[in-house]
Amino acid sequence: MFSTSNISLSKKAVKQNVRFVKRKLHKGVKLSAVVKGNAYGHGIEQMVPLFEAAGVKHFSVFSTHEAAQVCEFKSKSTGVMVMGWMEDEAVEWAIANDIEFYVFEIGRLQAAIHYAQKLDKKAKLHIEVETGMNRTGFEEEHLQEVIDLMQENKDYFILEGLCTHYAGAESITNYLRVMDQIKKYHKISDLFEENGFMPKNKHTACSAAAMSYPETQMDMVRIGILLYGFWPSQETFIAYQRSNGYGQDDVKRKVRHPLKRIISWKSKVMSVKEVPVGEFIGYGTSYQATKKMKIATVPVGYAYGFARSLSNQGRVIVNGKRVAVIGTVNMNLMIINVTECKNIGKGDEVIIIGSNGKQTVSVASFGELSNQLNYELLSRLPQDIPRRVVE
Ligand SMILES: *Cc1c(COP(=O)(O)O)cnc(C)c1O
Repeated sequence: MFSTSNISLSKKAVKQNVRFVKRKLHKGVKLSAVVKGNAYGHGIEQMVPLFEAAGVKHFSVFSTHEAAQVCEFKSKSTGVMVMGWMEDEAVEWAIANDIEFYVFEIGRLQAAIHYAQKLDKKAKLHIEVETGMNRTGFEEEHLQEVIDLMQENKDYFILEGLCTHYAGAESITNYLRVMDQIKKYHKISDLFEENGFMPKNKHTACSAAAMSYPETQMDMVRIGILLYGFWPSQETFIAYQRSNGYGQDDVKRKVRHPLKRIISWKSKVMSVKEVPVGEFIGYGTSYQATKKMKIATVPVGYAYGFARSLSNQGRVIVNGKRVAVIGTVNMNLMIINVTECKNIGKGDEVIIIGSNGKQTVSVASFGELSNQLNYELLSRLPQDIPRRVVE
C-alpha cells in the first residue's frame, strides 16, 4: 500500500525493443526472452504479459521458482525453459506442466527419464554441453554416457535443444575463447547428430553473441538485456553502430539508439536542509561540504535496491537538474546535493532511473563504472516496489 518509490514500465519501449531484436535475427530464428532475476528487476508479473503482447512466445528463467511465477502470467501456448536450478522433485512438476529444462548432469537426466515414465509423458530436454565457460554443461568425456542413456530411453523425452553459453561475448578480449567455443559446440552437435539425435533447437546466443557473432544465432536465441533496452556492453553498442555505418555526426538519434529503456524509477524528496562549509555529510568522512550546501534526503537506500557502490557516485534528477548522490548510501535513504536547485521541497519528484526532458539517468550512467552494473543493479530492484505499466 505504502512505498518509498515507484516503478513504471513503458509498453511502447517493450514493443520497440522486441521489434529491434527480431530485426537483428536471421529468418526463422526463435526468440526466447530471458526473464530471470524477476525479469532483470522489472517484474515477471508485468513483463511476461508485456513481452507476449509484443510477440514473444518463449521465456527463459534460471530456476523452477521463476518458472512457476512465469506460468502464473503467461498464456497457455507460451513455452518456458529453466536454464539452471531445479530441485529433484521439481523435475516431475516440470514435465507435468510442459516446462522445458536444461540437463547438465547425469542425475537430472535420470530423474527426467524416471518421472517421464511415471507420468507417461515426454520430458522436454535441453542438453547443455561444456564448450569452455566451465560453469555447467556436460564435459566431452561424459557425452557418450549421455548419448547411451538417451538411446535407451528414446520414448521418454523430446530433445528440445542442444545448448551452451559463451564466456564473455560482450568483449573482444574474449574473441579467441568464444571462437573456440563455437567450434567445440559444432563438433559436439555433429556427434549428437551422428548418433541420431537432431535437437529441435540449437541455441547458444545471449544478447552480445546474437549481435556480435550472428553465426551463433542458430535456431533460437536467449535474449535478456537488449529486450530491456540496455546494451550488454559499451563495446557491443559501438560495434553495432560501426557495423551500421553510424558515425559521430549521425543525427538520426533513433537509428543510432534503437533501444528504449522500459523502466523508470521514481521517489520523492523526504527532507531538505542546509549544511555549513567544512561539515562532513552522512556517515564518516567520505564527503565534506566545500562550501555552504543544501542537501536533500531521498527515502531509497541499499535495502530498497539503490546499491551502496553508488555512494558518492550516483546521479538522480530533481526539478529538471541532474544532481549527485553524496556520502555513503544508507540502508533506507540517500543524500543528494541540491545546492543548485531553487525552490526544492519535501515531496518533489526524484528520478532515480528515467528522464525529464533533457536530463536522463540510465542505470549505467549511475556511475559509468561498467555495463555489468546494469545487470546487477536492475536485478536487485526489490520485488515489492509497486510497478505500473504505462503506454
Ligand atoms: C542470462 C543468460 C542469458 C541472457 O543474457 P543477456 O546478456 O541478458 O542477453 C542467456 N543465456 C543464459 C544461459 C543466461 O544465463
